[in-house]
Amino acid sequence: MSPIIADNFHSVSEKITKSAKSSGRAGEDVRLVVVTKGQSISKISEVINAGARDLGENYPEETVKKIADMGSISEHVNWHMIGHLQSRKVKFVVNAFSMMHSIDRTSIANEINAKLERPLDVLLEVNLSGEESKGGFLLSERKYWPDFCTTVLELNQLDRLRIKGLMTMPPYTQDPEASRPIFRACRELREFLVKQTGLATLRELSMGTSLDYSIAIEEGATFVRVGEAIMGARDYSKKI
Ligand SMILES: *Cc1c(COP(=O)(O)O)cnc(C)c1O
Repeated sequence: MSPIIADNFHSVSEKITKSAKSSGRAGEDVRLVVVTKGQSISKISEVINAGARDLGENYPEETVKKIADMGSISEHVNWHMIGHLQSRKVKFVVNAFSMMHSIDRTSIANEINAKLERPLDVLLEVNLSGEESKGGFLLSERKYWPDFCTTVLELNQLDRLRIKGLMTMPPYTQDPEASRPIFRACRELREFLVKQTGLATLRELSMGTSLDYSIAIEEGATFVRVGEAIMGARDYSKKI
């Protein structure tokens, strides 16, 4: 076992606390979701042993297999679904995950709600860049925002989904500052929604990855999703 993953986990955790404090918040206000898609069971065990309690995955079947292969150590963690979900895979999410960050359309919200036997915390994924390859509710122009309030109020009627806030992914970039306007728009959208709908429960903002999590925290992130900066490069060449 190499100490690299544990060292990375601790240094990212420290940077999160620093960024939170420099923007006037407590370190505990920001939760670190370690993204473990494409990583081996042994590396995932290392990060859990280092203290990680929230892990993010994109592919439901991969996650279900990992949980089974990991045995009792997986009982210590909350699994977060952060990827696009096809409706035929809803059955996996309902049982394996404790939070879903990527409700990207109304139909998937309805399908998940119908299959749940217990309440599930969820975030609505929003597309604030207008990039066509991106998933999520299209909210790149402010004129779309009022209709989204109606959508959120409707989704809030679903009895098992607990809508906790928003998630976003900025366009791919090498320059972390390029993500700042998107993160800021996400915070402003959350404030707009709370004001227009009265839903004070919309508190969370899931935004920021390895490259730009400090910027995301400065703009109000309450969850950051960090993969390669902790776990190293992903490997999809071998079967997981
Ligand atoms: C893969 C992924 C991440 C993590 O990205 P890194 O660059 O490895 O930090 C975060 N969020 C989503 C939605 C992802 O798919």
